[in-house]
Amino acid sequence: MDVDLKKYLYKASAYKSASQKARVLTEAWASDNLKCPACGGTLILLPANSRTSDLRCQSCGETYQLKSQSKPFGKKILGAEYNTTIQAIRDGRHPSLILLQYDLNSLSVQEVRILHRSWITEQSIIPRRPLGPQARRAGWQGCLLALESIPSTAFIDVVRNGSVCPSQIVRSKWQTAHSVSTLAYAQRGWVALVLRIVELLPQEFTLQQVYAYESELARSYPANKNIRAKIRQQLQIIRDLGLIQFIGPGVYRRVFQSMQ
Ligand SMILES: [Zn+2]
Repeated sequence: MDVDLKKYLYKASAYKSASQKARVLTEAWASDNLKCPACGGTLILLPANSRTSDLRCQSCGETYQLKSQSKPFGKKILGAEYNTTIQAIRDGRHPSLILLQYDLNSLSVQEVRILHRSWITEQSIIPRRPLGPQARRAGWQGCLLALESIPSTAFIDVVRNGSVCPSQIVRSKWQTAHSVSTLAYAQRGWVALVLRIVELLPQEFTLQQVYAYESELARSYPANKNIRAKIRQQLQIIRDLGLIQFIGPGVYRRVFQSMQ
């Protein structure tokens, strides 16, 4: 794998707009260079539909959606139609995302992070205001995906600062991220919220430090009147996933790699 996009320029010559050129270049690069993080299989670019670039692993069938841009990814990214997105999440059909950032001057890939599909929950989707009656697609409602709300465990680095990460590390990070898919979908929203907090704490942390986020969690789940019990339950689930250890009464240790 290398990070050069220039060798795919011939594929983009037919396109006029810079964004279409970039899409064609990064699609060609991804299908030629990326391997399936789940099994190491070859990724096939699916026939283009209107807006998305979708890839599927030829061996295991995992699906991915490529999102490319020249600027670093911010806290939120633009998603598809709101209700379609929510339904896909509930049905377990939402693809993992490949977040690719390239450098426009050198035409090289700078960063590639894969967001494992299992961590994309309804809590991370923010509805946008439906388009007004004057719009061509009046009533159409988009959404945003709040990357900031998703634990780092969900992201697998494939290219960092223009350097390709070793494939065995990519595979092992995928396995860690994949562990949450053993849980029922309805459980994952809470697990994601509590794990996000755990990642903000020191490697060794106490139950009290997690409780300090009680009011923040109560805002996400206003109907829940016993947030502390819910927190303890999530910590047990996160332990069973192998992501933290209990090392004493009310004391825990993160097992997975510390976050950047
Ligand atoms: Zn695969």
